[in-house]
Amino acid sequence: MTVEAQKETLGFQTEVKQLLHLMIHSLYSNKEIFLRELISNASDAEDKLRFAALKDDSLYEGDSELKIRLAYDEKNNTITLTDNGIGMSREDVIQNLGTIARSGTAEFLTQLTGDEKKDSKLIGQFGVGFYSAFIVADRVEVFTRKASAPKEEGVRWESAADGEFTVETVTREARGTEIVLHLKKTEKEFANGFRLRGLVKKYSDHISFPVVMQKEAQEEGEGGDELETINDATALWTLPRNEVKDDDYKSFYKHIAHDFEDPLSWSHNKVEGKLEYTSLLYLPARAPFDMYNREAPRGLKLYIQRVFIMDHAEQFLPLYLRFVKGVIDSNDLSLNVSREILQNDSTVESIKTALTKRVLDMLDKLAKKEPEKYQGFWKEFGTVLKEGPAEDFSNREKIAKLLRFASTHTGEPDHTVSLDDYIGRMKDGQKKIFFIAADSHAAAKSSPHLEVFRKKGIEVLIMSDRIDEWMMGYLSEYDGKQFQDVARGQLDLGDVETEEDKKQQEEATKAHKDLLERIKASLADQVEEVRVTNRLTDSPACLVVGDFDMGAQMRKIMEAAGQKVPDSKPIFEINVEHPLVQRLEKETSDERFGELAAVLFDQASLSSGQQLKDPGAYVARLNRLLLELSH
Ligand code: ADP
Ligand code: MG
Repeated sequence: MTVEAQKETLGFQTEVKQLLHLMIHSLYSNKEIFLRELISNASDAEDKLRFAALKDDSLYEGDSELKIRLAYDEKNNTITLTDNGIGMSREDVIQNLGTIARSGTAEFLTQLTGDEKKDSKLIGQFGVGFYSAFIVADRVEVFTRKASAPKEEGVRWESAADGEFTVETVTREARGTEIVLHLKKTEKEFANGFRLRGLVKKYSDHISFPVVMQKEAQEEGEGGDELETINDATALWTLPRNEVKDDDYKSFYKHIAHDFEDPLSWSHNKVEGKLEYTSLLYLPARAPFDMYNREAPRGLKLYIQRVFIMDHAEQFLPLYLRFVKGVIDSNDLSLNVSREILQNDSTVESIKTALTKRVLDMLDKLAKKEPEKYQGFWKEFGTVLKEGPAEDFSNREKIAKLLRFASTHTGEPDHTVSLDDYIGRMKDGQKKIFFIAADSHAAAKSSPHLEVFRKKGIEVLIMSDRIDEWMMGYLSEYDGKQFQDVARGQLDLGDVETEEDKKQQEEATKAHKDLLERIKASLADQVEEVRVTNRLTDSPACLVVGDFDMGAQMRKIMEAAGQKVPDSKPIFEINVEHPLVQRLEKETSDERFGELAAVLFDQASLSSGQQLKDPGAYVARLNRLLLELSH
């Protein structure tokens, strides 16, 4: 006997211990999902074996009839699930049933609160997998042997979820994995044929492999040893649409996505012609905890001619649609594709183009038909979709149609509008779609840049997501209308601005020429230009970004990322109607003029959400002015 064969007791990785503890306590009302998870794993293991056997069919060891066997024992209160799939080596067992490999897990676990309802949702987003066995069992045994390994290299794993597990090498004839659940006393209901049948029908009807169970004896002597297939066992996506019920689509989604919640929507299509493939795409209701983790697995389950090839084939959808789950089954790809081949394959590229369109159409339909559900989608995945215009230039109009924005029209940050809504409300003579970008909704709403829009009753879209200004760099127009940042360039309100408004501004510029020059001289190297504003009604001054300069929000993001940003000076616009500006114009002392101009400039920076270069100097200046007041 080798040393390895000896029984070894190992501790679970800390994250597993935490997850086990939380899961057992918070998933009580979802406890029946354990069976779905274990059958899912068994089905994955069969898939993996079939794939490996494409290259080496000796792996079948003479048994190529892949199936999953479910048995129960009422007397001993156990359930046993057996597959003849790929199986696990001793190392696999220690790795797979003792740790969690997903990055970000520890961080995720800190978000759990102990509140059963909240936690069960979060854990649902995480996906529970194998460990869910412990919701109903107080002891679990696993017997397994990897396909092609000698029978002396079987492994037995056991744990009572008390922080430790044991592994030992055992002799095992059968290839694949057998899991024995020693049910808790309170979970006797599951050691029952009728109950198990019901669960398999409910959760695992349309997995690709048969689940067989012993026929219950009807009468003494009947049934007995006879096995019976208790699920439909045809892969769901291979069925014609009209033969699949909504509930089937939903439970299949849970099987592939490891989600507790129903999907928001799905799209099932069989394509024939130059390319032949079937796709089944789902929109989840909730974002996974690691959606912004670059390494997090994403992509579709890839099948080729019904044979499972790989999980997380990410080449079939663009990154900005990474929340989509589903299956792609192609007839055109070769069975021995690899991830590398997928990357440069023109068939894959064509499928990707078609699937992208499908997802965008599915979203469009959802937005039109079920706006409330779409709102839910937007809340979860909106910021991901915003990556779209940059990544997928050719679909940018379609993506733009799906975007939602806060707006001065609704007031509430959560109450968003579409670009079509906006266009429907545009004023007569208004030619552009106006938006304001700021660090927060509140900062945007109180920005002086909105004053003239308020006066004229023109709607402005409010963008306060970090990604917004960057995204707008890739969206120059929608429906033939240009986007215009209200803090950028000369403000052109189109025909909403009357001839009179324009004349007034021209005359003011002439009349206050000296003032403008004096301010420019005083602020010297801080401003590009000083001019009379048409933006303000209540504030004395504001800053404007030059047409081709980088916006303030973008600048901050780049600087935070340690990037060098090109230097550019703002344009300083002043409101000559404002008493403070009029006071400034009358100032004869150059020194005091300089002080006042500097204060106005710093205030304008502050209300644009910028940090002052020299906050101390601003405070000192302001205090000098305040002291004068009290004299
Ligand atoms: P997931 O299925 O999401 O990877 P699980 O917790 O369900 O997570 O399973 C962990 C791992 O354990 C699987 O990825 C697989 O490698 C292994 N595993 C679980 N059940 C089986 C099985 N029946 N046969 C072979 N391997 C299995
Ligand atoms: Mg699993």
